[in-house]
Amino acid sequence: MRQLIAGNWKMHGLSDQLPEIELMAACVASRPLHADVLLCVPATLISRAVQVAAGRLPMGGEDCHAEASGSFTGDVSAEMLKDAGATTVIVGHSERRRLHQETDAVVAAKALAGFRAGLSIIVCIGETQEQRSNGRALTSCASQLAGSLFSAPSKPAVTAIAYEPLWAIGSGHPPSSEQVTEMHQHIRSCLMTQFGGFGSAIRILYGGSVTSDNAAEILSIPEVGGLLIGGASLKADKFDAILGLT
Ligand code: 13P
Repeated sequence: MRQLIAGNWKMHGLSDQLPEIELMAACVASRPLHADVLLCVPATLISRAVQVAAGRLPMGGEDCHAEASGSFTGDVSAEMLKDAGATTVIVGHSERRRLHQETDAVVAAKALAGFRAGLSIIVCIGETQEQRSNGRALTSCASQLAGSLFSAPSKPAVTAIAYEPLWAIGSGHPPSSEQVTEMHQHIRSCLMTQFGGFGSAIRILYGGSVTSDNAAEILSIPEVGGLLIGGASLKADKFDAILGLT
């Protein structure tokens, strides 16, 4: 399966960052790549980012509401992201789960909304430091996975899972290759149990403190289907250095 290198800009980016996106798109187009690439940006930037990327770099949203439209002041629907030119939406990022009290059921409804709107969907899961210290990393991720995924009538309403341990996000301390391997194998077996053959087609990304110094090692792990990159995706030179490792 082709790997996916996805950036997540989180709540960063004003219009003066559009030249950076243009630069990234130029980097992507400048040589043959061995991975798919995606940049998830704030909803306010998507349509202009799509314009400057000019078909060279797909854009995604970072969250969506479960409903297509309605009296939900300040929210953005999956249909709106699609209308702005996004191809993909991230749902269930730990920052949404933790800071906006999003439950697995809310995340599942958002994933289904992305599916309804025709977007690719990245569902994030990950354990806390406490859960890992207590030996509950695998069970905690399995339970988030089971609760956060919907099976639409013909296929699972998800295209990628991002395993992002909370203790690795922004900490500068990614897990060891053994820890990533163990978790990714566990996620794969959960997906196969839940979706049968469809479970093998879902990419499993790793996210949390990825840089150009550790990306090659993480990408070489057989079960790793790509990366979800926060801080190191904000600058074209850093993002491009990681793309060069694929
Ligand atoms: P960092 O790469 O900055 O650790 O962020 C990871 C992340 O949360 C991506 O979604």
